[in-house]
Order: sequence, then C-alpha cells, then structure tokens
Amino acid sequence: MKIHTIDLDFLGNSEAIAAFLVETSAGVVLVESGPYSTFQTLKNKIEALGFEIADIRHLFLSHIHFDHAGAAWALAANGAKVYVHPFGAGHLANPQKLTDSARKIYLDQMDILWGDMKNIDDSLIHATADEEVIKIGDAHFKSWHTPGHANHHIAWQLEDVVFAGDVAGVSIGGGPVVPPCPPPDIHIDKWKYSISLLKKINARALYLTHFGISPFSTEEHFSQLEGTLLEYADLIKTLMKEGKNISEMTTAFNAYVNMQFSKYQFDEKQEARYQAANPAFMSVTGLMRYWSKEAGDLLTQ
Ligand SMILES: [Zn+2]
Repeated sequence: MKIHTIDLDFLGNSEAIAAFLVETSAGVVLVESGPYSTFQTLKNKIEALGFEIADIRHLFLSHIHFDHAGAAWALAANGAKVYVHPFGAGHLANPQKLTDSARKIYLDQMDILWGDMKNIDDSLIHATADEEVIKIGDAHFKSWHTPGHANHHIAWQLEDVVFAGDVAGVSIGGGPVVPPCPPPDIHIDKWKYSISLLKKINARALYLTHFGISPFSTEEHFSQLEGTLLEYADLIKTLMKEGKNISEMTTAFNAYVNMQFSKYQFDEKQEARYQAANPAFMSVTGLMRYWSKEAGDLLTQ
C-alpha cells in the first residue's frame, strides 16, 4: 500500500506537521487533516499527487487537537467520513467549547495558528471503538485507544505500520523523541500503558505526525520517549514542590530541553520545528495540571 507523507509547512516550517495520504484499492484516504490554517497547502499537495480533496471519502484522526484535526470539517464538507475516538466525536459535531478554550490560550494568535473549526454533521462522524477495524477496500485500519497525551487518542494500525499521532511523541529530522505534554489530559500512567501496548504491536514503521517515519527501532524509540516523559514529569513535580511560579518553571524547563537538544547539532530551523510542533510552555502547563489535578496526592509524598 502506498503511503505519502504530506508536509503541511506549518507557519513556514518544514517537517513540523504531517498528514498522510494512503492509496487503497477503494481510493485514497487521509490520516490526520492538520489545522485549517494549512488546508490550502494540503489541497495543493494532494493535487500535486494527482488527487482531489473530494476524492477523500475517509479521514482517520489520531485525536482532536487542532494540529491534527482542525481541518477535519473542511474534508467532511467535501463528503469525507471522519473516524475519531468516541470522546472526541461530540467536539467535532460542535467545536464551540474546544475553540473557546483554545482562544483563551492562544489569544490573537488563534487564527494565525489554527484557523476556523466548524461543525461536522453527525452522519459523517464515526465514533471508533477500541480495536475496531475499519475496512476501506484492501486497507484495514485498526483502532487502538491510546490515552496519555489525550484521552481521545487513537493510534491507527495499518498492516505492519502505525500512524501514532502524538502518543509516540515527536521526533524531527533524526532528533530525539520527546513527549508533547499540553493540557488538559496528560496522564503519566495512562501514557506508560499506551507505550507498552504500542511496543507489543512492534510496527515495522511508526508514522509520527511530528514528523514522518521514526528513524529509530521501536525499542529505541519508546525507550527514549518513556525516559524523557518521566524526566519531564519529575522536573515539573520537583519545581512545584519548591514552590516555583509558572514563569520560573518555564525558564527551568526550557533550560532542560535546550540541554537535551545540545547533544544534537541543531540549527535554528531544527529548533523552530520542534517548537512549532511542541511548544515547551504548553508542556509546563500540561504537566502542572497533571500533578495538581490528577495526582495531587503524590506531591505530598
Ligand atoms: Zn500534535
């Protein structure tokens, strides 16, 4: 089966956000839509491959964050059926709450970063059960519910490859595997469960939305991911115990990330790609929320 990685050139960065076009015996399908701000780029690149947006009758989403699902409504408006986790289905039908809370975080940057998110008709939304298999011609997409990054996360297995969304982390241009930890769902134990599940699938290739096929073996990939996830979580827990405020925590967190990146010879472009795909300040907020809400009792230990 032919899989095309489409670079959405998010904010002018190459290799920050991907969508994947899969050629099946029943036509092309898309995995991830990217945000609506890059919809025109998606359209142009699909056309450059010899297809039209309207050819896409099926869209598989890893989860409903804007960078993965923001343009889903525009594909649905062209007739695509959208496969999503049951916890995300209602938000696609009515994205008001999602856009309101994002606007509080991104303020006037909202439109530049993500663009519109509009309602999708219920008849075009398929809430996908765990381990459900969706057959499109000769392509069998298996849904694995994989919480940790988001409660509404699915990793899509297609034969021996997995489209891993964000639950398998971010690795760009041969750089390290890092976990994106935005609010509100980050949960370390759930994420560890998902990592062990994905390790068992032992995919031949992991397709990361940020960005492309992981250059590492499955074992190396997930060992980096889990190691860094636990380090990030511990760092924020320690800073919270020390009573640091959010700006002190963000400074300390950025210093930690920079130290980690300094082992790799990153140029400015490479750093910008990581920041665009996975802004550090979001991880500070996400992990603070995890420790204070989900695991508040652990802080006193
Ligand atoms: Zn993402």
